[in-house]
Amino acid sequence: MDDCVFCKIATHDIKASIVYEDDSVVAFEDINPQLPTHVLVIPKRHYWHIGDDVPEQLIGHIYSIATEVASIKGVDKTGYRLVTNVGEDGRQTVLHFHVHVLGGAQMPIRMGPAD
Ligand code: 5GP
Ligand code: ZN
Repeated sequence: MDDCVFCKIATHDIKASIVYEDDSVVAFEDINPQLPTHVLVIPKRHYWHIGDDVPEQLIGHIYSIATEVASIKGVDKTGYRLVTNVGEDGRQTVLHFHVHVLGGAQMPIRMGPAD
């Protein structure tokens, strides 16, 4: 996809600090980390978001690699959060499906019902 920053990272046309790569996915450090560990896992192929007919096997692989990234970054024991923003209300800013791996400190907001 022309003019997609994550497609260009996937093809190495834009530099990123790569944590993991295989034939179908790449994981790299977020340029504007929100926590000490903040890595993005993306499919190399362009999909607008997780609802864009992404094959189930690829979704599974991306989540599997997200857990692998957590191990690589050393946050697998302390915990982490996986986030996928979708569209305008989800406040997705890069329109190429990605999963955020966030950890290394406690998340500022707890999801779910209030205590
Ligand atoms: P979104 O808001 O779409 O869920 O998340 C997009 C993420 O991509 C943001 O956390 C942002 O910091 C990150 N990002 C945007 N452009 C670049 C870039 O060129 N390189 C890297 N490494 N991260 C980027
Ligand atoms: Zn793309």
